[in-house]
Amino acid sequence: PAVPSGAPTKSVFGEFSGLARMLGDSCVDLGQGFPNFDPPEFVVKALRDELDGTVPGAVRTRHQYTRTAGHVTLVEALAERYSRHLGRSLDAMKEVAVTVGATNALFLAMQAALARPGAGREIVALEPFFELYRSQARGLNAEFRSVALRFDEAKRCFELDVEALAEALGPQTAALIVNTPHNPTGKAFEEWELKAIAKLAQQHPNLLVISDEVYKYMIFDPPSGGLANQKDSPAGHIHFAKLPGMWEKTLTVSSAGKTFGITGWQIGWLIGPSEWMEPIQCYMPNLQFCAPTLTQRALCRVLREAAEPFHGAESYYEWLRQDYARRRDIMVAALEAGGIKTARSQGGFFLLGDISGLCGPEGPLHESWEASLRPDEAKDWTCCRALAAEIGIVSLPVSPFFGAGSAKNIRTRFARFCFAKTDATLEEAAKRLASLA
Ligand code: PMP
Ligand code: GLN
Repeated sequence: PAVPSGAPTKSVFGEFSGLARMLGDSCVDLGQGFPNFDPPEFVVKALRDELDGTVPGAVRTRHQYTRTAGHVTLVEALAERYSRHLGRSLDAMKEVAVTVGATNALFLAMQAALARPGAGREIVALEPFFELYRSQARGLNAEFRSVALRFDEAKRCFELDVEALAEALGPQTAALIVNTPHNPTGKAFEEWELKAIAKLAQQHPNLLVISDEVYKYMIFDPPSGGLANQKDSPAGHIHFAKLPGMWEKTLTVSSAGKTFGITGWQIGWLIGPSEWMEPIQCYMPNLQFCAPTLTQRALCRVLREAAEPFHGAESYYEWLRQDYARRRDIMVAALEAGGIKTARSQGGFFLLGDISGLCGPEGPLHESWEASLRPDEAKDWTCCRALAAEIGIVSLPVSPFFGAGSAKNIRTRFARFCFAKTDATLEEAAKRLASLA
């Protein structure tokens, strides 16, 4: 079928999800990041039991609003977990807020940083960055600035450029967003990188760090350093707020969507010192009266049960980590067999594949790419459309995750492939990719 074109100014998610919908069952959708399999039965059961009224608690109230900053049982459960993760005792009422997805948590954190008396007007993120950061910052009338991570050709991974970040930060910076494990690259930041960021953050008294950790339970290839290996933390994960002096300057953002395969439940949260959380809790009713009561209540039980042995692993979390490592390995092998070199993915849902050769003069997609080239479109965008048209694989072009000022050769070099997919989907992807070689 004909594949519609798209201008890079449109949302990359809207554009490529639309393309996947249009291609229907004939396509393998590795674009937008969400699992195409059901959540585990204990997760679904927790919600079913809430609905059926088999869990104690007044049936009527579970269908109504709950506390704006989060259902009391859930904020208590989150405070208990983060007290262990961060090695400090958290106040459930004052230092936790439950939001409609990490999406609202990010918005609230940026809003709070910008609203602080004397704050600058700039939000900084490391590039490539999750596209939402830029659009939310712009929606809040802030300037958005990105600092490129360096691509190390030998190690095939992205690395922090400390000098470039130091240069970008100043009194104009309201907040710096750090995201580990990282969307879109799959990078898990090294201990030295996070410590370098913390050191720079210390030099700017007004700067808030927003630490987006939504993929923290899926680290297959941990960063080096002792902090990544702590008994009371998710395996391989370094909580930014745990670095010396960082609790006071950090709002931690996370959600249940990726960990439990329930992106549609839209439960996220913010964790941080009451000095930051108090204005956020005051502002929250302007954005959401509450996150859904039913899913918050169900999540309390999910969090308790996830710590128990699961399918032979010591907990659901350990099983999840191993299961995603396996999916990552299948995806890497499939892409490499199709002649698409991959960048190192250590965690999360995603892998970057180097698509620059696919559409080059000798590449298997060259003709299709040339035929659909548009002057207003980035090269990777056209290449991803060609990949969908030729073999029915929908990926995402990565140029929208870069700032306009970044080097073109890196900005248009990669496509992002989501591997949160069933074995059947991954096998079908592998078959189609093999036809490129
Ligand atoms: N941060 C990152 C890095 C993400 O990839 C996403 C979306 N998957 C979000 C935040 C938003 O998460 P949620 O679905 O919980 O709103
Ligand atoms: N975070 C998911 C992704 O990166 C979904 C984002 C979205 O739809 N806005 O694919």
